[in-house]
Amino acid sequence: MSEIRTRIAPSPTGDPHVGTAYIALFNRCFAHNRKGKFILRIEDTDQTRSTGQSEQDILAALRWLGLDWDEGPDMGGDYGPYRQSERSAIYSNHIETLLQKEKAFHCFCSSERLDKVRLQQMEAKQQPGYDGHCLALSKEAVQEKLDAGEKHVIRMKIPDSGECVFTDLLRGEVHINWEQIDMQVLIKSDGLPTYHFANVVDDHLMAITHVIRGEEWINSVPKHVLLYEYFEWEPPVFCHMPLLRNPDKSKLSKRKNPTSINYYRAMGYLPQALVNYLGMMGWTMPTGVEKFSMDEMTNALSLERISLGGPIFDIEKLDWLNGKYIREDLSDEEFIAEFANWAFQSEKVEAIVPLLKQRVERFSDVVSLGQFFISAGVQVSVESFQHKSLDKDACLKILQFSLWHLESVGNWQRDSIEGKLQELANSLEIKIRDFLFPLFVAVTGKAVSISVIESISIIGLDITRARIRSAMAVLGGISKKVAKNLEKEYKQLS
Ligand code: GLU
Repeated sequence: MSEIRTRIAPSPTGDPHVGTAYIALFNRCFAHNRKGKFILRIEDTDQTRSTGQSEQDILAALRWLGLDWDEGPDMGGDYGPYRQSERSAIYSNHIETLLQKEKAFHCFCSSERLDKVRLQQMEAKQQPGYDGHCLALSKEAVQEKLDAGEKHVIRMKIPDSGECVFTDLLRGEVHINWEQIDMQVLIKSDGLPTYHFANVVDDHLMAITHVIRGEEWINSVPKHVLLYEYFEWEPPVFCHMPLLRNPDKSKLSKRKNPTSINYYRAMGYLPQALVNYLGMMGWTMPTGVEKFSMDEMTNALSLERISLGGPIFDIEKLDWLNGKYIREDLSDEEFIAEFANWAFQSEKVEAIVPLLKQRVERFSDVVSLGQFFISAGVQVSVESFQHKSLDKDACLKILQFSLWHLESVGNWQRDSIEGKLQELANSLEIKIRDFLFPLFVAVTGKAVSISVIESISIIGLDITRARIRSAMAVLGGISKKVAKNLEKEYKQLS
């Protein structure tokens, strides 16, 4: 049998997500269990959302977890380039093939027309999707439009009846009606491929044998298998992993649980414990042991034994496991080394020291002044938020609005954070000093401390979010109804 090849294909559009690490782990363990290769491919065809910074962060986070790869954009390999933005010529050649085979077609419909069609379909309670308007164009008409430089996309043809049947390793045969499948855009009007097209072409050209990915992609498989059929390629084995869930069973989201790998790193989890925990999502070792290394998982993994019940990402359980690793695996010397490594990460310390130096008289002051930079959280009570002109509801509103506003800071630097918060204070017509008060308390635990904006820029969005959220809980939280009203008010502001 040919070499087993698996891949993780992150889109570099945000923080490195624990879900990416979870999928990477299963791909890596499976490939290495079969003496195959694990590949990292960057899917950055969405040029408006992809950033080089996010790519670097994802690579660094995966590497921190020990989830390194055999081929990838940073190290090359026989099947490169491994970054989709460098593979444009490949997609252009391949779309030509599909056009020639008449499996794909040019579509010149305006977005206004598409919106109108969609609206009509929704009103008629039909499945929304492209209505095939441009399929009726003659070859000559298409050529004329192309010669005139008319804006267009390229879509794939879809059978108009019958069903697509494919096999998923964990679910067996899956049936999906073609009527439910849209005539997917393969090449966008900017000439770049969509996820579906680039993903299939690359999986084939990179000789991927097993596509192991999150269950959210299962409804896309019909488009993918159809593309394999159009190209006359053999499709890979599909295995859709169960989605990670919050303790309330909803899909894991940063609104309820920190999802960035950077958060877990900043909070002082051991990478091997986090990897072990992710390995427990949907998988149990044949022996039933809960603590196992990546090598042990690699030796034991069989995909068939993955369970489809939604695995819960529960921080309390992770804490328990991490504590077990600290107690059982670290000698005192190793503990000191690991702790120092974590606490004195050079970048963070370099940012904190100038702030502390101005304010301390003795080294022993450093701990009380600076502890909020590294502690898991801060101790606050309702009384901590007492203020001459802001009541509890005003504090809650400022915290919630600030959180929403901070989410939209693109470049996480002191000045942009300050600009954002100032802008919010202005629109709320609250003096900046008063406005910052609840944030000060939530983030630093005190009403007066090191500049809160400086502090937020150092501890990062994930920890800031966690602190704001826990402060809101201390203040009694907000009901769904109040949240809805606040959201409305916030939208009007921006
Ligand atoms: N780029 C996709 C993602 O970000 C990859 C999905 C897949 O593995 O096919 O999840």
